[in-house]
Amino acid sequence: MKNLSIIGSTGSIGTQALGVADYFDDIRITGLSAHSNTKLLSEQIRKYKPAKACIMDESKYAELKALVSDTDTRIFCGMEGLLEIAAQDESDMLLTSVVGNVGLLPTVEAIKNHKKILLANKETLVTAGELIIPLSREYNVDILPVDSEHSAIFQSLRGNSCKNIKKILLTASGGPFYGKTKDELSNVKKEDALKHPNWSMGSKITIDSATLMNKGLEVIEAKWLFDVDIDDVTVLVHRQSIVHSAVQFCDNSVIAQLGAPDMKLPISYAINYPDRAECAALTELDLFSCGDLSFAQPDRENFPCLDIAVNSSKKGGLAPTVMNAANEIAVEMFLKDKISFNEIPQLVLSAVDGLDTKDSLTIDNIVKYDALAREYTRNLI
Ligand code: NDP
Ligand code: MG
Repeated sequence: MKNLSIIGSTGSIGTQALGVADYFDDIRITGLSAHSNTKLLSEQIRKYKPAKACIMDESKYAELKALVSDTDTRIFCGMEGLLEIAAQDESDMLLTSVVGNVGLLPTVEAIKNHKKILLANKETLVTAGELIIPLSREYNVDILPVDSEHSAIFQSLRGNSCKNIKKILLTASGGPFYGKTKDELSNVKKEDALKHPNWSMGSKITIDSATLMNKGLEVIEAKWLFDVDIDDVTVLVHRQSIVHSAVQFCDNSVIAQLGAPDMKLPISYAINYPDRAECAALTELDLFSCGDLSFAQPDRENFPCLDIAVNSSKKGGLAPTVMNAANEIAVEMFLKDKISFNEIPQLVLSAVDGLDTKDSLTIDNIVKYDALAREYTRNLI
């Protein structure tokens, strides 16, 4: 039996993971969490009967408790509650599918409690990869990527050593605004940004995909997961989202993973690893009907977030924490119509350039600078 807890179970990845779990008799759901969606979380509690559940928004705690008072699930709230889910004895793996750097502390807690990590929450590796990867080695815990590109790289690497990687070829759809100039981007609306051509995802990552920040975060995620130099991660725009990423080895051989653009496949792969499981929920790829496959350079000039992210990683230390927190606030403000699309990179850059990040990289300092950068960015608006 696999005992799976999910933080962020009401989101795009969380609900798809539960949908995948429905197909397997050997998966038991042991913990669930949401930010504020009490309705869906209470329905999930009734269906999956987890030992524990957490609502992050403490003002919703009483409401959730009342909704599920006739069940045996113990209800928690806030960060303390998330840490309960991460550490709970009933589970042996944790899917981190919350959005944003809020995933950091639960991930650390789960590793320290020897839970296998199924990692969707890329922000955690962006800010703390330098600490999380050694910690996972110290506790002998697997970190299995759920992000489709990193799952593809992970699958392409099976039977090979990271030492033989020449380059990682990280594919990007290009997002809804591919081909647009800065001028054209100045007037785009959030409704247009939320229309991703190939993937249906939560709103934050959808905006990150439109700015190419998502690809910047993924370059950093790849650097930590696969122990490569950041300059050895090459981004290719691949509009069809069929080749989910590839590895070029030292002998120039390229191994890629292909599939339909459907997150259920990397989710199922991570849950069932090291096996592969047949599952009716997984979309079949028909190569005869997917047309031509194309690869192009990303547009780094009109979409500066890609380089802003990469450069923050080169700066190192707490710079990616500031970059990530500023981006989280900028995206939130764009979604509230408070800033324009082109102001997203401007704000992130102002925070990275404006905040001194000389302190040492520790989990405590990441939490501290995450809060500082949020405050700093809010004050810029
Ligand atoms: P969603 O916005 O759809 O879901 C986020 C989940 O986290 C929800 O359950 C939400 O609860 C909860 N949540 C939001 N804010 C907080 C908070 N401050 N504290 C605690 N819980 C919170 O996001 P996605 O599922 O799209 O993405 C989740 C993560 O996976 C992100 O890091 C993203 O980058 C990554 N990812 C997503 C992909 C996708 O296809 N969606 C693909 C690859 C990676 P509530 O419902 O109550 O708001
Ligand atoms: Mg991805």
